[in-house]
Amino acid sequence: MTAVYQPFKRIDVDRVRDEVSSERGARSIIERYGLEVRQRSSRWLRLRECPRCHYVSSSLAIGIRVDGEAWVHHSSARECRGDMFDLIGACEGFDARKDFRRALKIAMEMILIDGEVDDDERIARENERRKRREDAARAERQRIEAAQISAGNEWARLKREWWKKPRAYVESRRLDARKLIEHGYLLLDQDGNACVPLFGFDGELVNIARRFARPRDPSRKVTCMKDCPHSGGAYLGRLQEIQHGTTAVLTEGIFDSLTAAQIWPERVILGASGKGQLATIARHAAPLILEHGGRLVLVPQNDASGGGQDAMVRAGRAAQEAGLVLDRHLFVLDITPHKDLSDAHCHGWRP
Ligand SMILES: [Zn+2]
Repeated sequence: MTAVYQPFKRIDVDRVRDEVSSERGARSIIERYGLEVRQRSSRWLRLRECPRCHYVSSSLAIGIRVDGEAWVHHSSARECRGDMFDLIGACEGFDARKDFRRALKIAMEMILIDGEVDDDERIARENERRKRREDAARAERQRIEAAQISAGNEWARLKREWWKKPRAYVESRRLDARKLIEHGYLLLDQDGNACVPLFGFDGELVNIARRFARPRDPSRKVTCMKDCPHSGGAYLGRLQEIQHGTTAVLTEGIFDSLTAAQIWPERVILGASGKGQLATIARHAAPLILEHGGRLVLVPQNDASGGGQDAMVRAGRAAQEAGLVLDRHLFVLDITPHKDLSDAHCHGWRP
């Protein structure tokens, strides 16, 4: 017998990663492991079952990015997330963070790249990169979990004897404080300042914003809890409440959000904590609205500088990019000549 010498083929880890972190890569994994896709939106393929922990979700908690960049099982404490190598590991029942070489081999076989995986140095580098990314993601998760705990504690503390708290400030804006409190949209502190929940996009309470009746510094009417996320979520409503035929209302600021909640108790109110958040919320909400056949109503503020309208125009564009069509899924509420919804409501405006 004579030895047959195969030409040596060096594997380019970067190339395999690029190939597998793609729409084609995600699709190959879904086919190979027979993953059941429940729903598809422009960005996510939602799975029925988590390939890692096998939890079966009736909501939209488990998904693979259409572009193959990542997969995640939301609010899962376990290691149910990562890139396509991690997804392969999850489907095969091993941890790609511990055995990257094995995940790499399967990925190569799947996308038909042949050659030998024997470049130890490159694999070590890739392992290191993946570990750093994982550490950063874990630190971020811990930060959010800590925020959920402190925001939850603060909300519980504010709730104590809520009926004894002064309601005059909130009621001066023609709001029914008692009703809003009963719905979980509002709490008051001992000075009657308005406190509202900020929910992260995964539906967890992550912060509480407070609007002062008598701010010491007039340029700082609103404060948030300082070690908790100030962005990446919405006041009052959760994205997860967007269901079949939901009308969601995008507002800016605490009083406009509370006013919307009072005027439209059956709608989901998504309140932006600042102008910059309007487009972010729209980008997250729009795919869900589209999937569920709902509607999104934008309520712009008419400030003298025009900044409120501009920010809402950007939010509208983000919603359209995600597939919402103006006058079909997407509506803009005109409250001129009033400066905002709260002001309109105080002056007797009705929808
Ligand atoms: Zn899971």
